[in-house]
Amino acid sequence: MEKVIIIRYCELYLKGKNRGYFERLFAVNIERSLKGIRHELRRKSGRYLIEGFEEDDVDRILSKLCKVFGIHTLSVAYKVSSDFDNIYAAARLVAPLCGTFKVETHRADKSFPMNSMQLSAAIGGRLLDDVKSLSVDVHSPEHVVNIDVREDGTSLVFGSFIKGAGGMPVGSAGKGLLLISGGIDSPVAGHMIAKRGMSLDCVHFHSYPYTNMQAKEKVIDLAKILSEYACGMNLHVIKVTHIQEEIHKKCNGEYMVTLLRRFMMRIAEKIAESCGAQCIITGESLGQVASQTIEGMTSSNAVIERLPVLRPLCGFDKNEIIERSKDIGTYDISILPYEDCCTVFLPKHPVTRPKMEDVLSEEAKLDVQALVAEALSTLEIIKF
Ligand code: ATP
Ligand code: MG
Repeated sequence: MEKVIIIRYCELYLKGKNRGYFERLFAVNIERSLKGIRHELRRKSGRYLIEGFEEDDVDRILSKLCKVFGIHTLSVAYKVSSDFDNIYAAARLVAPLCGTFKVETHRADKSFPMNSMQLSAAIGGRLLDDVKSLSVDVHSPEHVVNIDVREDGTSLVFGSFIKGAGGMPVGSAGKGLLLISGGIDSPVAGHMIAKRGMSLDCVHFHSYPYTNMQAKEKVIDLAKILSEYACGMNLHVIKVTHIQEEIHKKCNGEYMVTLLRRFMMRIAEKIAESCGAQCIITGESLGQVASQTIEGMTSSNAVIERLPVLRPLCGFDKNEIIERSKDIGTYDISILPYEDCCTVFLPKHPVTRPKMEDVLSEEAKLDVQALVAEALSTLEIIKF
């Protein structure tokens, strides 16, 4: 009796003619996530099976697969040759020792001597005989023993369905550049977009020595977690210290965040061009902090020449974002207390509804092109 893992996928079937392409991508992403773990991946009638792994690796494999977008559900199953005694032996291992249960059979192999109802009843009956503290409840059982009698002469017997990450295979929806800070929001924004099939690269702006090296390490740790969902990525790190000093020296301090955001967007668009990203993604949420007003977004959008800016968290409350960051495993790192560059030289009263003419007249005091070019020259790329 061999242990296998069943992978059922999500919306791929929607894709008609492109289905083959989606499935290949999906398989590549699964293989990538299991790199270094012995296994074989097989496609079987609308599902995938992982076989040939060490029993000790089951939990490791499941935790990797739970980060692969496109997976709807997973089950750990016993694979046996299709005869009644073998199926029963597996059902006995899957069945609980007490409580209510039912057996559910799906029979693809119509040459199997019992039909689905008969097999369910026979396996269920024998379980009842052998395990005295079990009882049957066909309407709302605590446990279900599932039996899949397949066309190839083998059967899969399994208990629970484990929820997968959902979404679409990464790589099926182009590539985006995520502005990642050390905060809670931006990793969640990246996760949401990757879930819809988009590959990611990230850019992070720091103002060393005003922000410390731990702040950068924190972003590296966040990007690493995100890269497990995004099937790898590059983190572009840019120093904006000089830009902030110049704004501080020459402009009305109330415009620090507004002007810095515009620099971030300009630099991000250049990096997006160089890495083939087709959009810019931020973790902004409408009205969450002073700079995240529609006027603030209008001001930062205005410097983008070509690309769309996606703000997937725009309509989310903070507690909804926190919940998601806990789910994806970034929360504990995000709440570490290191400063972000946006908190350096932060004015007491930042403008919340910047007027474009004021923004432009403050910005006119700076040599924007030279500052952008200088910042780009500090680019460091970290690969995951
Ligand atoms: P987050 O939790 O993602 O830090 P936030 O609530 O702190 O968001 P802001 O500081 O206003 O909000 O930042 C809004 C968005 O701008 C971030 O979600 C991120 O996309 C981008 N951003 C902010 N700071 C940086 C940075 N240092 N490097 C890269 N992007 C940044
Ligand atoms: Mg922040």
